[in-house]
Amino acid sequence: MTIYLDNGATTAVDKEVVEAMLPFFKDKYGNASSMHHAGQDARKAVDDARQKIADALGAEAKEIIFTSGGTESDNLAIKGAARANKEKGNHIITTKIEHPAVLSTCKKLEKEGFSVTYLDVDPDGLVSPESLEKAITDKTILVSIIHGNNEIGTVQDIAGLGKICREKGVLFHTDAVQSFTKVPLDVSLLPVDMMSISAHKIHGPKGTGALYVRAGTRLKPLMQGGSHEFKMRPGTENVPGIVGFARAAEIALAVDVSKITEVRNHAFKQIIKEIDNIKVNGPRDEMRLCNNINISFANVEGEALGSYLDIDGICVSTGSACSSQTLEPSHVLLAIGLSKEIANGTLRMTLSKHTTKEEIDKAVESLKKHTEKLRAISPLNTVLENVQ
Ligand SMILES: *Cc1c(COP(=O)(O)O)cnc(C)c1O
Repeated sequence: MTIYLDNGATTAVDKEVVEAMLPFFKDKYGNASSMHHAGQDARKAVDDARQKIADALGAEAKEIIFTSGGTESDNLAIKGAARANKEKGNHIITTKIEHPAVLSTCKKLEKEGFSVTYLDVDPDGLVSPESLEKAITDKTILVSIIHGNNEIGTVQDIAGLGKICREKGVLFHTDAVQSFTKVPLDVSLLPVDMMSISAHKIHGPKGTGALYVRAGTRLKPLMQGGSHEFKMRPGTENVPGIVGFARAAEIALAVDVSKITEVRNHAFKQIIKEIDNIKVNGPRDEMRLCNNINISFANVEGEALGSYLDIDGICVSTGSACSSQTLEPSHVLLAIGLSKEIANGTLRMTLSKHTTKEEIDKAVESLKKHTEKLRAISPLNTVLENVQ
């Protein structure tokens, strides 16, 4: 039996989501741009889904652009806003703990002549409002700050950070891929101009996401083609994916996140009780995603520990899925001040609504066993003082 503790990488698609999608592969296969009834059925499904996603965010339907996922949404927000507003200035502000979809996009814009400030974070991964305020100049056109961090779970105060941007007349984008449906998000109250979300992190299908764009925000599309998605994202709509995304959002919004928090807190308690010389990364309070665990194990190689857990049927992640192909330590862990050695001994475990305390107990048992084994053969003898 698999114990899947990698829901930050992707989630199991809900059965109801698959059922909602199936008709759009089988009978209702029309192109939403076609005039005939088959096309109009698809159009109606896309319109309904757009309204549902808008409702989930407190937005208007016309402010939702469907994309191929979180990565594309981040690219569209950042490149689109930067290129559309470059006569106003060439300065962008982001942080050192963004997802690669944001970081690489900013690096690319630096090559196009934009200048980017990467804000530091505190040891919990929080961005200080003062540092943002100080970084804004009269050349700043865009700020992009991740809402719920995919590695260490830190949830930023986007209301406070967005307010600073609004007061300075600067656009504010947030990557809310991890926080969407886990943390309340209402753009009618939040000073946010653009927000990225993705279906496969909330038990929806892979390859579907959306970008919320506040009415009146100027963007340049990334691709040229038809006039789909309010001329912001050409290409025949992924009707099954969009329908599945909306259904997944409806289901996820009805989930009691306090139950996930409870299982997560049980995991923290058990790991701290059973294994010594560890450090919990990220905040321990309400400023943390309900499903995130990130722990450094002194004198252990994270890749080795992850492989042993895998043999026991337990899926976890070292750093983030996107960076675990490389052996470089996670940029997020380095940004919160961990040494390379400690960063490399770090595991991320991300829970879902399906995770049980029994699964956690089995995982902790396996963690304890393999940590002891690996430490016995380790040449290192670091002592972590910062156990939380
Ligand atoms: C997964 C993830 C993305 C990328 O979303 P995809 O739909 O996989 O492209 C972007 N940002 C964060 C924070 C993520 O966790």
